[in-house]
Amino acid sequence: MNSAVRTPETPAKIWTPSMAAPTKRNLWNAMLRGCRGRCPNCGEGKLFRTYLRTADCCSHCGQDFTHHRADDLPAYLVIVIVGHIVVPIMLWVETNYSPPIPLQLAIYLPITLVSALLLLQPVKGAVVGLQWALRMHGFDENGAESASDRPA
Ligand SMILES: [Zn+2]
Repeated sequence: MNSAVRTPETPAKIWTPSMAAPTKRNLWNAMLRGCRGRCPNCGEGKLFRTYLRTADCCSHCGQDFTHHRADDLPAYLVIVIVGHIVVPIMLWVETNYSPPIPLQLAIYLPITLVSALLLLQPVKGAVVGLQWALRMHGFDENGAESASDRPA
């Protein structure tokens, strides 16, 4: 018998335990942990090294955080959230009391700035938790990260 016949060009797939369906990750739990600045996997280690820079990995469970691709989504979400709080208040105050414009600017601009800065880290943590729970990008230990997922 010819040895080339026994060795096909594409080897047959052999089932291994690593090919089984991955365990489902709790989306809301991961987002809540990320929102609190904790590791979405264990909820113990810190997610952030600085204000908006994520740590390379969890200090408690070793989960790798370098796979996240939050990019600009946290900033867009913060704009939507803060805008939906501040703008209706501004419109209500203007239509009912009509205070001087300098007074309104002195109140609304700091409120907008402070609330945006306070929300950025929790929202980014929630986005990273969402990406981890959905196994997006490199958070799926069984899937290879495609070249299109990597930043340029
Ligand atoms: Zn962890």
